[in-house]
Amino acid sequence: MIYLDNAATTRICDEALEEMMPFLKEEYASPLGQYALGFRANSALNTARGRVAALIGADVSEIIFTSCATESNNLFLRGLIRNLLNAGTDPAHKSISIVTQTTEHASVLNTCEDIAREYDRVRLIKVPVDRNGFVNEAAYREALKERPDVVSIMHVNNETGAVNDIKNLCGLAHEAGAIFHTDAVQSVPHMRVNVREIGVDALSVSGHKLHGPKGSGFLYLRKGVIIKPLLTGGGQENGLRSGTPDVAACVGLGKACEVLADRLIPDTNAALAADRFAQVIKEVLPHAIVNRPTGSDVSYYDPNRDLCEQSSKLYLREIVSVSIPGGDALSLIHDLDMAGICCSSGAACSAGKKGVSHVLTAMGIGEKLAKGTLRFSFSRYNTEEEATEAAVIVGRVVQKNLENHGILFK
Ligand code: PLP
Repeated sequence: MIYLDNAATTRICDEALEEMMPFLKEEYASPLGQYALGFRANSALNTARGRVAALIGADVSEIIFTSCATESNNLFLRGLIRNLLNAGTDPAHKSISIVTQTTEHASVLNTCEDIAREYDRVRLIKVPVDRNGFVNEAAYREALKERPDVVSIMHVNNETGAVNDIKNLCGLAHEAGAIFHTDAVQSVPHMRVNVREIGVDALSVSGHKLHGPKGSGFLYLRKGVIIKPLLTGGGQENGLRSGTPDVAACVGLGKACEVLADRLIPDTNAALAADRFAQVIKEVLPHAIVNRPTGSDVSYYDPNRDLCEQSSKLYLREIVSVSIPGGDALSLIHDLDMAGICCSSGAACSAGKKGVSHVLTAMGIGEKLAKGTLRFSFSRYNTEEEATEAAVIVGRVVQKNLENHGILFK
């Protein structure tokens, strides 16, 4: 099996699994326990928090452990809006507006839509993207003229790898008086992200996308930003997420973050494997469209360079989106699975979505082509040899699938 669906989830790294094991077996006490076992659990939780904070340049007090990025996004968006609505008894707060973009992950987009449906006083503005998937800056500036209360724009898109220039977008949002949040689920595993440098007020990360365990994630919330908790109870996580913490999951997440911080810059495996894959796909399937924009205004993130600042048109190399004219992604994924390749169509983590990707259609890719689009995503465990082998198999399987459906594709 060749696993090329790392944007959906990754295998846990050995270092994280190893550190977690004692907390699942012998060291199972609650971190609130007032005895040695409990103190050790609490100390492990603190170590994990320190490692997470170090990865993104935050203070430990600014990290809230959650169960996944979906929860982090919900906690921030719902928690902030509830706080603003609560504070809004004065006329200056008659209405609240949220700005987001059309290609956000469902955990942001559906949450914003749900909030807007729930509260009459909340208005949602969805900013379009350009044909390469970057937020349309003119439309964004226009939306900011409405002086929104909150802006949520993702760092890296999970279907295309388009990297938004968060530092710039955040700066513009701040000038307009908004609080800025970014969903950094797909950027943190591959790029050095420092919250102080990019200036965001809140940032969501998922553990299982960076070789940590499933059921782990966190929200960075800058000191001074006030949200209301969604879960009330014992007041854990600074009162923002009650419930006995999953110490093992947090320990695994912390270790995965530490390993990532250690190897982030020298680790080019995933990017090189993805580059090779894209190159061989172009050879074996000349009529396929590898959705990797080229041009003088587009560049690819270079993991060899320690950079946070960017030209505005930057792409992550580890996500390779391939459109097969005339193809049907679900049928292709099935055939590729039979041939030992795991990949996905668009947002694989949106359960049961058989429809067309909202991201690709927002970029102006026609419905037919969007339906035939596959996503291959790479991790540090993929090699260039494996990528070559996978691309050759993909070429063969796609040709066969199309022939079986009477589609000529030479
Ligand atoms: N945000 C982005 C950009 C994602 O790609 C995903 C999952 O694919 C999520 C959020 C949700 O992450 P989680 O599965 O941790 O809830």
